[in-house]
Amino acid sequence: MTFQNPVFIPGPTNMPEAVRQACYMPTIDHRSPIFGKILHPCLDGVRQVLKSDSAHIYIFPSTGTGGWETALTNTLCKGDKVLAARNGMFSHRWIDMCQRHGLDVQVVETPWGKGIPTDTYQEILKADKSHTIKVVLATHNETATGVKSDIAAVRAALDAAGHPALLFVDGVSSIASMDFRFDEWGVDVAVTGSQKGFMLPAGLAIVGFSDKAVAAAATADLARTFFDIRDMQKGYDANAFPYTPPVGLMNGLKLSLDMLLDEGIDNVIARHTRIATGVRHAVSAWGLDLCAASPDLYSDTVSAIRTPDGFNATDIVTHAADVYDVAFGVGLGEVAGKVFRIGHLGSLTDVMMLSGIATAEMCMVDLGLDIKLGSGVAAAQEFYRSDHARAKKNAP
Ligand SMILES: *Cc1c(COP(=O)(O)O)cnc(C)c1O
Repeated sequence: MTFQNPVFIPGPTNMPEAVRQACYMPTIDHRSPIFGKILHPCLDGVRQVLKSDSAHIYIFPSTGTGGWETALTNTLCKGDKVLAARNGMFSHRWIDMCQRHGLDVQVVETPWGKGIPTDTYQEILKADKSHTIKVVLATHNETATGVKSDIAAVRAALDAAGHPALLFVDGVSSIASMDFRFDEWGVDVAVTGSQKGFMLPAGLAIVGFSDKAVAAAATADLARTFFDIRDMQKGYDANAFPYTPPVGLMNGLKLSLDMLLDEGIDNVIARHTRIATGVRHAVSAWGLDLCAASPDLYSDTVSAIRTPDGFNATDIVTHAADVYDVAFGVGLGEVAGKVFRIGHLGSLTDVMMLSGIATAEMCMVDLGLDIKLGSGVAAAQEFYRSDHARAKKNAP
């Protein structure tokens, strides 16, 4: 058992050493002005990562799931109607949470491997003349299937229908690693967590609210105390939380935001695209297919790879852990046993990725799949070389 190897799961992601060190700090008085020096840069940095000028940022001691609950309970009333597509495990869980909160969810069942059917959203919204639908949910990146949905198209569907529903986006596995535009897409609530693109341990729910979503908190009647954004805002106004903040994690977030913004958020996105494209070249060299049905849906943070019929994809994950001390992701829900997942987000380089591709290859050969050692690695190497050469040629 070794801790030397990177993980290739789609969260929690690898942590830069400096970020780990930043989380490890002495106790401070969280009601002193020192805390404000950690809090406010975090709020400002997250806003920049979301590409927003004015989003209200709230950070709770929780995870992405708590971010979903923050979104729902602060804006909705019992029995309110919500529109959602189910195309993977995470959209499924968000729908389940809505139902358990007594919301009336209109579920658009969507094949796993496909994205949000925005045409169907538009028809439903157009037909909802009395505007009973209060919120439209969109899972930007389905981590279970490696499928990206088109959030700009969801916004366009709302606008084409002239519908005033709020747009809530689960960006847990996309924000800080894939293109995300809070203002441009007219997002009302964006949800994420600390342990994916932000390269931190789990422990923070990070959400952005539009003015319209904040205003909804005045009339929302779903029960909330811990996740009440009004209490949180009052805390922030006094450089504090309504309870004890996770200071070390937030100090880590402050540094990870500095690192992301120093690299440049568009460069971070381009790095994820490059690394992911290399993985996809490897997958096609292996003669395998992605769960995502077409290239426009390919996720740049996780690839769910289908294995041949009759082969249990989970065996690859178990074998990699047992023999090579390397973590890949198993298939979840409907695609359990049919896919294995390679996570490629967060603190990751081409070189790290090549080691992950090489390990996946060894496992598949060990388990008898008809794959040539080195085939995927070579395909990814060729791509990374050519992409760097291209970038160099185009440099100013
Ligand atoms: C990881 C993930 C979640 C759940 O986040 P937790 O931090 O585990 O609560 C929700 N949605 C998506 C898309 C995710 O990838």
